[in-house]
Amino acid sequence: AKAAGRGRHAWFDATMERELVSRNAIEAGLREGIPLGQFVPYYEPQVDLESGAIIGFEVLARWEHPTRGVIPPDSFIPVAEECGLIADMSVSVMRRAFTEARDWDQSITLSVNISPAQLKDPWLAQKIVKLLVETGYPANRLEIEITESSLFQNLSLAQSIVGSLKNQGIRLALDDFGTGYSSLAHLRALPFDRIKIDKSFVTAMNKDPESMAIVNAISKLGESLNLPITAEGIEDQGIYDSLRSMGLHKGQGWHFGKPMTVTAARRLLAEKGLL
Ligand code: C2E
Ligand code: CA
Ligand code: CA
Ligand code: CA
Repeated sequence: AKAAGRGRHAWFDATMERELVSRNAIEAGLREGIPLGQFVPYYEPQVDLESGAIIGFEVLARWEHPTRGVIPPDSFIPVAEECGLIADMSVSVMRRAFTEARDWDQSITLSVNISPAQLKDPWLAQKIVKLLVETGYPANRLEIEITESSLFQNLSLAQSIVGSLKNQGIRLALDDFGTGYSSLAHLRALPFDRIKIDKSFVTAMNKDPESMAIVNAISKLGESLNLPITAEGIEDQGIYDSLRSMGLHKGQGWHFGKPMTVTAARRLLAEKGLL
């Protein structure tokens, strides 16, 4: 009976086992790799849509694995969140990004992603401020990106953390707007400086009228609330043209550059006289 049972669930068992093995391997890799500096910032250019000038970068974490090459964040961020290592990973990536970008042209900003788990840490603002002091990176060149899902868990704690960050001159963006549990009330509950339209709407907007309508509506909402907008996922000239004609402010996407190493980012800035 046991053998038959095993046989019936063989596929299921094998898949589950693989998942467990890789999850454990990732957790072990995080514990070992964070102190070794294996988690590094990649930089995705952000441009002023009107002039086309580079005005900053979104910082996107990558795992430079000693044998497996460069691993993207979707493979390790969920595990880091689950096993309580996201804060350490994030601090390690931020410290490196602040140090690398400190002496770039003072017009160049960094946007950093903060996960919902981090917005439950009452010391988050203090930790970020400490990193700014330690690295000499100015608070007014930093923008923090948070998603709406972080706000459902503990809004009053999020408000107090965000209040401390804003007092230091750090700006706040609402990330992935339009996806997940969007609630317009959040735009009022927290002092956002900017909205980011998710790439799922932007990449599709010239082929899909509904996506176009959503981008248009978010753009008008931003205008009436006096909140500038960043569009992510600008993959080609056609999308760039559409967004520019809507009067959108800031954008990023493969049309301008994929997330790149610090060396490539410095080269790009040097070409534009921004180093
Ligand atoms: P996100 O914040 O929505 O970041 C944008 C993602 O879209 C990035 O994926 C970027 O590489 C990708 N992307 C940019 N331009 C284009 C484009 O034109 N077309 C398409 N198809 N994709 C584009 P990436 O780097 O794989 O990051 C995935 C997610 O991982 C991020 O989504 C963010 O939520 C999370 N993440 C990355 N780094 C960190 C981090 O340091 N901390 C935390 N908490 N989350 C991070
Ligand atoms: Ca983001
Ligand atoms: Ca995101
Ligand atoms: Ca997004």
